[in-house]
Amino acid sequence: NVKAILIEKTADRPIASLGDVDESLLPEGDVLVDIACSTLNYKDALAITGKAPVIRNFPMVPGIDFAGTVAQSSNPRFRPGDRVILNGWGLGETRWGGLAERARVEGDWLVSLPEGMDLRQAAAIGTAGYTAMLCVLALERHGITPDKGEIVVSGAAGGVGSVAVALLAARGFSVVAVTGRASEADYLRALGASSVIDREVLTGKVRPLGRECWAAGIDVAGSHVLANMLSMTRYRGIVATCGLAAGMDLPGSVAPFILRGVTLAGIDSVMCPLPDRLEAWSRLASDLAPETLEAMIATCPLSGVIETAPLFLSGAVRGRIVVPIAP
Ligand code: NAP
Repeated sequence: NVKAILIEKTADRPIASLGDVDESLLPEGDVLVDIACSTLNYKDALAITGKAPVIRNFPMVPGIDFAGTVAQSSNPRFRPGDRVILNGWGLGETRWGGLAERARVEGDWLVSLPEGMDLRQAAAIGTAGYTAMLCVLALERHGITPDKGEIVVSGAAGGVGSVAVALLAARGFSVVAVTGRASEADYLRALGASSVIDREVLTGKVRPLGRECWAAGIDVAGSHVLANMLSMTRYRGIVATCGLAAGMDLPGSVAPFILRGVTLAGIDSVMCPLPDRLEAWSRLASDLAPETLEAMIATCPLSGVIETAPLFLSGAVRGRIVVPIAP
């Protein structure tokens, strides 16, 4: 048997519980992985609490990512003993995911653990951190360099935000961290933020064009926060958008795009092709200092996952939550 969180559909809502599932029920796939560490992301919280229809078929083992060791493989890329990471590809949505002792997956979805990183660190980075790196890469591809001006990051004390702040600071960017929690200012400065501003700066009425403040931005919130960020981005700047913590809407105008040449870059981590994943993980290995990552990590046992998940929805999680599964 495999210990796992299992979400079952009942007449009125999905119910999550910790239990044992028969290993023969794991989905088809060419690689079986012993999971060392899983993590909790915002999307896992939506799935576990049932607050959004993340899960496409029931029963479902949630967990959009994991880090672990290959136990069996018929995929030519992997052998037993290989250490691997998986992020997205529908895990925890359409396919049994990482909040379990074992997972059977397609080998083509796996990324080898980068040199110099351990499985716990890879899980701590997780989908949130890998998405933060995809956002940073989008800014770099647009030609954004530290001399172009400050970079604004919303939801800075959350998972994606914390890693984004640290990655940008490590590359010499001046980072403006936006947070709804003034109490996290010291934490954000320790990650490398050069200034910390209140979320309220970005939650008011959206003007077609605001004051030009930042060379680029990374947004996890959507809604007014994203719309204001766009209207306050400097001429020919870029905003990478990846989240909806404030909402799915975008209450702005085309003015930043057509009058300032601002670019809106959409970031999706789930179906992102392998070459981009490999680039992101290799850059995470080189750019994110282990001690900076350590400052973001909190630990939650598998038995505490169901009660911890709602904290994401109230914006109360700092950094990243690792769920250790095996020693
Ligand atoms: P998280 O750890 O909960 O971080 C989200 C942060 O957003 C919170 O900590 C909070 O930070 C801020 N926030 C919360 N409510 C807000 C509101 N109403 N308005 C503005 N800011 C608010 O979650 P995460 O795992 O980093 O994920 C962040 C978002 O990115 C989620 O929407 C997630 O679904 C999305 N995401 C998307 C992808 C993708 O592939 N596109 C991948 C990963 C994550 P402060 O307290 O510091 O303001």
